[in-house]
Amino acid sequence: MNITLHGWNLTFDYAAMLICILLLIWYFDKKRIPIDVSAFFVKFIISIFLCALSEVMAVELARMNVIGELGFNLLMSLYSFLASIISVVYASFLMVYLRVEKKHQRRIRFFLDTVLVLTFIIDILTPFTQIGFYFYGDSYEVGAFGGFYALLSLSTIVTSIGVVLKKRAEISNAKAVMLIVSVLFGSSMFVVQLAFTISLLTFGFALVALTLYNYIFNPAIYLDNLTNLYNKDCMRECLNIRFDNHNEFSILFIAMDDFKYINKTFGVDNGDNLLIQVGNYIRQVDGAELVFEYGSDQFAVICQETDEDKIYAMAETIQARFKHPWYTDSTVGAMMSASICCFKCPEDASNYGNLIEIMDYSMAMVKKTNKGGISKASELEVDKLRSEKEIEKAVKLAIDREELMVYYQPIFSIEKNKYNSAEALVRINDEQLGWISPEIFIPLAEKNGLIISMGNLIFKMVCQFIRDNNLAETDIEYIEVNISPVQLQQPDYYKKIIEIMEKYDVKPSQINIEITETANMVGASDVVNNNIEKLVEYGLTFSLDDYGSGYSNLDYINHMPFHIIKIDKFIVWDAFENIKAGITLEYTIKMLNALQYMIVAEGVETEEQKDQLANIGCHYMQGWYYSKAVSDKEFMQLINKAS
Ligand code: C2E
Ligand code: CA
Ligand code: CA
Repeated sequence: MNITLHGWNLTFDYAAMLICILLLIWYFDKKRIPIDVSAFFVKFIISIFLCALSEVMAVELARMNVIGELGFNLLMSLYSFLASIISVVYASFLMVYLRVEKKHQRRIRFFLDTVLVLTFIIDILTPFTQIGFYFYGDSYEVGAFGGFYALLSLSTIVTSIGVVLKKRAEISNAKAVMLIVSVLFGSSMFVVQLAFTISLLTFGFALVALTLYNYIFNPAIYLDNLTNLYNKDCMRECLNIRFDNHNEFSILFIAMDDFKYINKTFGVDNGDNLLIQVGNYIRQVDGAELVFEYGSDQFAVICQETDEDKIYAMAETIQARFKHPWYTDSTVGAMMSASICCFKCPEDASNYGNLIEIMDYSMAMVKKTNKGGISKASELEVDKLRSEKEIEKAVKLAIDREELMVYYQPIFSIEKNKYNSAEALVRINDEQLGWISPEIFIPLAEKNGLIISMGNLIFKMVCQFIRDNNLAETDIEYIEVNISPVQLQQPDYYKKIIEIMEKYDVKPSQINIEITETANMVGASDVVNNNIEKLVEYGLTFSLDDYGSGYSNLDYINHMPFHIIKIDKFIVWDAFENIKAGITLEYTIKMLNALQYMIVAEGVETEEQKDQLANIGCHYMQGWYYSKAVSDKEFMQLINKAS
């Protein structure tokens, strides 16, 4: 034999094998995780193990003279081929893990497989021809076709790094670095091995496997500690796989009702125990393919069944169980209830984000209207949510592109017999949705918090309008701006208002703030009161909007620094339709006059309305009889013509 093998050190191969065995034990010790990438882990470990084993066997058997030079060379070819497989498995795993588009995956795989087949051919021929590598003394050299190994190595490195960089936005920085360092580390062992003839390759990959286990493959990452059910991370992966593959499936969403009372009544330990039992029960229901712990007291069940009636029947089975008490070691029998929503995918939702939105929304609806019941997406006005999302998008877009518009509706002073002020009303004209009514998008913006930035923008536009048109020189004494209670709930909101007014040189007397009477303004928080107080101190006046429509509370009005009361347009209209409503309005206005408020009548559409309302004591008129809300330019023309 030309080879001596004295200096070959197998310690690292043995260590790699040990790590692989440990990893497999840890991995199989826990519940199997039903996601595609899991299979890669086992493949990865087994190829590393076999790779190390083939080298160990080659060297040990040759040393013992059990095999000759050919046997040694054959085993070393196997070793070399398995080393190539390890890096291809890693690159393929990355593509699946990072959800690279299927058609790109197929292309990249085809390329990698082709190079792999070429190296396989070289590996097979090497023992006979030495084209891949050859051994002499204690060392080895790369053969004529050895470049192919470098090509394979380079291809997998480039693929892996490329994929990670492409999907950077979808993973955390730590994970991206970990995945890239892993591939570089694994491959660099190959170079170290060439340079120092220490067999480090399999050990390097075993360390990579250990790291991957820690970040990605440890089943504990995907299991709920308490119930040992799959957790939300696992649910996301499982659903993504199904959505990516365009699978049809159903999903049941089960939320315990008022579970905090169960915890209070029976104690948290018993509460936990009851949840475990509910989880176990759901797991064994016929048709439940995968059960997830979605939130602390919510479960999700994926089912292959797509027949709506069958899914509904399954929900009924689960619900029926809740008609009976649940027992733990130390509870006598707890009665619990759960609300269930059924969805069919991809009809009801076609991606993970969509589904979660719909689930959250539906569950909130069910809890309000059908607690403890079963609901289907079709009954839950999920379409409404979809259109809300579209409107939300349009509003965001309008803000980003500065396409928000502010229109002005003039307000007529009876005493001065001319327009003396105007109300600023926001407008959005979306490319796709057309004109959207503020009656629709303002409540949405209040719900999702967009009202804050939008409100500031509107206020800024109004101030800019006042300055640019030199309103101080016209009959228009002030502009009424609608401010949402949500805005007033921002600590130090008043500072923002003052800052904007100072920036545009607007005097406090030029702005009047309209706030609507709502239940949550009565007994308003300290923050709201403080904002109002500071703004009044600064010199702003306030109007109470939509008086009479909602939560009329005289005590509240008298305790708030309102200067103007705006009578809601529906109250005005009613007064002309209905005698009693007319009398009510007449006396209301008398009372408000006695309390020395200034009164604006809204929704004035006819001359008759105007005359009557003026007669009973309204000081200002606003409505289509005078003008609709118009753009800033039209508004300036309007008041210039009027004066
Ligand atoms: P609002 O504050 O009660 O505003 C009066 C609404 O009545 C306006 O509708 C106005 O165009 C309409 N209107 C005025 N006169 C007449 C009339 O004679 N007949 C009829 N049929 N309608 C009349 P708009 O502009 O659609 O605004 C609806 C609501 O949206 C407002 O009710 C207000 O609550 C909210 N809003 C509008 N702009 C803003 C804003 O800049 N900020 C905030 N927070 N809310 C706003
Ligand atoms: Ca208003
Ligand atoms: Ca109003």
